[in-house]
Amino acid sequence: MGTAAIREDDSKGRHTTTFRVLKILPQGGLLMDTPGMRELQLAECDHGVSETFSEIVALAEQCHFNDCTHNSEPNCAVQKAIKKEGGSLRRFSSYQKLMKEQAFNRASLSEKNRKKNHWLK
Ligand SMILES: [Zn+2]
Repeated sequence: MGTAAIREDDSKGRHTTTFRVLKILPQGGLLMDTPGMRELQLAECDHGVSETFSEIVALAEQCHFNDCTHNSEPNCAVQKAIKKEGGSLRRFSSYQKLMKEQAFNRASLSEKNRKKNHWLK
């Protein structure tokens, strides 16, 4: 893929490629070049997030309330484990951030689909 020198005045990169490419890396993983695209959102990743944080999901099943947010509800198994073990608080905040992002992406996608369907009718 083509590359170009950085801009002299602000040392930022220049747009060089003009097409999208998805490369499979030899050591595993994918590298994507998406010129002209400012943001890429992932949708429908609940399963992956749940699998990565399976210990939190398993704890959440033991919470007293089915709709527990694991923040201030009584008899929350997740908060109990965090208080007991101490160290998993950071992992729990990452889990919560990713789940919030999922909910936001799902909502914005369904809003986009609703608008698109409205205009197609
Ligand atoms: Zn809970």
